[in-house]
Amino acid sequence: MKWVYTIGRIRGTDVKLHLTFVLFLVWWAVGGYQEAGAAGAVAAAVWLLAVFACILLHEFGHISMARRFGVRTPDVILLPIGGVARLERIPEEPRQELLIALAGPAVTAAIALILYALIRLSGDDAGLGDLSPGRPFLALLMNVNVYLLLFNLIPAFPMDGGRVLRALLASRMGLVRGTRVAASLGQMLAALGGLCAVTTERHLAVLVEFFVFLGASAEAEAVETRAAGGGLQVSQMMVTEFRTIPIYATLADAVELLLSGEQREFPVVDNQGRIEGLLTRDNLIRGLSRSGPSATVSDAMTQNVPVVAPTLGFQDALDRLRSSRLPALPVVDPSGGLIGLLTSDNITDLLLVQRARPDGAVRRPRS
Ligand SMILES: [Zn+2]
Repeated sequence: MKWVYTIGRIRGTDVKLHLTFVLFLVWWAVGGYQEAGAAGAVAAAVWLLAVFACILLHEFGHISMARRFGVRTPDVILLPIGGVARLERIPEEPRQELLIALAGPAVTAAIALILYALIRLSGDDAGLGDLSPGRPFLALLMNVNVYLLLFNLIPAFPMDGGRVLRALLASRMGLVRGTRVAASLGQMLAALGGLCAVTTERHLAVLVEFFVFLGASAEAEAVETRAAGGGLQVSQMMVTEFRTIPIYATLADAVELLLSGEQREFPVVDNQGRIEGLLTRDNLIRGLSRSGPSATVSDAMTQNVPVVAPTLGFQDALDRLRSSRLPALPVVDPSGGLIGLLTSDNITDLLLVQRARPDGAVRRPRS
């Protein structure tokens, strides 16, 4: 089941739809159908698509500004709650982040102003703030953009206002502390907003505040992880004391090895010590129940395991470990020799230690 579908590519950025957005669109059109038949369904769908076109333009405001500072955006995803442009990185310079964060709301403000001018030129009343159904299409669209603008400027992650606040704080206290303060403030706002929404029984708002709360902690987490790991390379992150298992060993041997210590993933090697695969605890349990203890390790192991170089940087190593969906990856030097294991448990421990000592005094020397 695919959740995300690419519908196009604009200047190097993939435009993607999340499946829930498509379901939302269908649900919206069905609502229109129930009110006014087929014409109502079309009108509802066109309306929602117009709103999301405005959101997409907003995201491309961020994306174009980011490109000016050399930050690429591989994709932008449309969700029922809005759009998310996934920037490759946050610029180190707070002033650049500030401008990137402001560029989206600037586009939304421009759309609202243009629509306002069009409405006034045609002699209609814009009815600022009026979202009641039955208002003319352009007036409704203008007001949606006004609310989008206000909503986005709330100073909480993942809204743009949160990023503006973070950039302002970061220019004084650094990225990590600035993010921490901005995230806490965002969570406080989300909790307050959630409480208001619960007491007034606005269920959709409760959900939105919940996402804001999660967004704040995810942002803080990502920034702290990157800061804690910044400048590290694999040779400083890997486990160097570990045991391997020969490819011809039996699963009974592997069980003995597993139970004799803390290690749960074993690099599988051939006679020359070259890496052939990885035997995880799950592999072992599955192999045992399928073929019994006399089967060999080669039948149960994960093959074609990606290996990492000891000189690979922290973020790349983390990305590769995550995308492999394995608990560990072998570290192999240029001559093909196995010199370490990169495990998620070890990285977690390392990050905890690094965060406790932000001066980096516990960093292991590069080998
Ligand atoms: Zn934005």
